[in-house]
Amino acid sequence: MSEPPRDSRAALPAVDRVLNAPGAGGLVERYGRSLVLDTVRQIIAERRGAGEAASVEAIVTASAALLDRLMRPSQRRVFNLTGTVLHTNLGRAPLPEEAVAAAVEAMRAPSTLEYDLASGRRGERDDHIAGWLTRLTGAEAALAVNNNAGALLLTLNALAAGRETLVSRGELIEIGGAFRLPDIMQRAGTRLREVGTTNRTHLRDFADAIGPDTALILKVHTSNYEIQGFTAAVPASRLAQLAKERGVAFVEDLGSGTLVDLDRWGLPHEPTVAEALKAGADLVTFSGDKLLGGPQAGLVVGRAELIATLATNPLKRALRLDKIRLAALEAVLRLYADPDHLAERLPALRLLTRPRTEIAALAQRLMPAMVQALDGSATVALVETNSQIGSGALPVSLLPSAGLALAPSPPSGAAVEILARRLRALPVPVIGRIEGGRLILDLRCLEDEVEFAAQLGRLVPDRP
Ligand SMILES: *Cc1c(COP(=O)(O)O)cnc(C)c1O
Repeated sequence: MSEPPRDSRAALPAVDRVLNAPGAGGLVERYGRSLVLDTVRQIIAERRGAGEAASVEAIVTASAALLDRLMRPSQRRVFNLTGTVLHTNLGRAPLPEEAVAAAVEAMRAPSTLEYDLASGRRGERDDHIAGWLTRLTGAEAALAVNNNAGALLLTLNALAAGRETLVSRGELIEIGGAFRLPDIMQRAGTRLREVGTTNRTHLRDFADAIGPDTALILKVHTSNYEIQGFTAAVPASRLAQLAKERGVAFVEDLGSGTLVDLDRWGLPHEPTVAEALKAGADLVTFSGDKLLGGPQAGLVVGRAELIATLATNPLKRALRLDKIRLAALEAVLRLYADPDHLAERLPALRLLTRPRTEIAALAQRLMPAMVQALDGSATVALVETNSQIGSGALPVSLLPSAGLALAPSPPSGAAVEILARRLRALPVPVIGRIEGGRLILDLRCLEDEVEFAAQLGRLVPDRP
């Protein structure tokens, strides 16, 4: 062991002296003695290692700063001004207040999670949402699991383990992260049989591939890409018919899926769950936190006997939803009972349908505060831009939007990064996107204008 530098040891206070200092009392009160003690020791050790002297006050100040950082929640609220409404990294759909209240209630007290009040007997946790899902989609039965990846894993395992699943080569998707369809299928224990080609798959490709070992035909929504040019895909209704004739199951993974026709609000058409069922799918899987606008969940709807098979599979238990999310999901589904007011009440839909004129007016109002906060370190311009739905929904459609473009002066790649970092350092971090040397703040998802403007005064000064 090497001796620490003699002079630095002499210049550092003992731990006890720091803990007895006037400023330390408040820290102990706030954070507890053992955590403060650990922190003070850590700070003193760091100074000793660096060969630096420090006063009692300096150690107290450094400890307070470290404790403040340590105790700050890691998952924090942000302003999503990226222009991607359902941003997976920023938590996808913001939930309506009805869902927030329901989740809080479920957290706080015992509930009827698996209890039937009428009979006084055990109930089913999925009953809270199954009624709404069947009503809204026309399905015979429904269940919910952790997410759509889980829904797919459960479906494939329950219906096709040890047997073959047919998928078009044009639909072997990777969604991002570790979600790659062939991997999920392998883990589900089903053998992937690819049919057709990347750009063209025909009904006869499926018909020729069905054999005694085939359990299932899977159609996957190509959520995040589009194959263009010389292409052919088999319509779901034809696949459903073929599956029925040959006695295999037909499952459609809609990805985002929606319960209502988005055309109604001028959004591009996305296949609805009801349409997929009507076209003949035995089961349809989709996410709870994409276009549906609810909490993270994977939903499976369709034929009752298949849902029953899924419900009794051991993976269902491993993938089941907790009471908090079930409560939130139920509250969101209840909003769908009244589609006429959905666009006001469901934040995801409200943000997606927000007109450009309204967003541009917001940008105009915020411009002076932004100019003042930046204090000459960057210029501010109003811009027209395009938002994306995100989460792989409607990959190629863009929503006309507006915002502010911040350009550092003088311009440089490093300067725009620093600017982005300054905005991320605000009390409620602001996340924009860098494009062509500018920081674009797409204001589509900014609803709390007053709070946003109020915190701009706390922008840290520009650092070179
Ligand atoms: C998003 C998506 C998934 C994964 O859904 P999660 O809810 O994120 O697990 C699966 N399939 C498709 C087609 C998707 O778009």
